[in-house]
Amino acid sequence: MSNLTPDKTCSCGAPIAFVPSVATGRLVCLNVAPDEAKGNIVVVDGKARLVQRNALYEPVVAGPYYLSHQATCPDVDKYRKPKKK
Ligand SMILES: [Zn+2]
Repeated sequence: MSNLTPDKTCSCGAPIAFVPSVATGRLVCLNVAPDEAKGNIVVVDGKARLVQRNALYEPVVAGPYYLSHQATCPDVDKYRKPKKK
């Protein structure tokens, strides 16, 4: 198990790492600690790659598996729906 190097601390207080997606090149925001139970992203050569995980599908890429921070962030609504006053 290895944690990613945090690039930033989220507004919720969690350390997060930005890793470019291998598919889109856009930065994705990951929890730095692996989540072996629910994680669905592996970091290969410094790039984030989505892997499919379910009971019927054995991942072809070895872990550790990371989770998008947006999936767990309690502040995620701030980013999805910027409130204008
Ligand atoms: Zn957060």
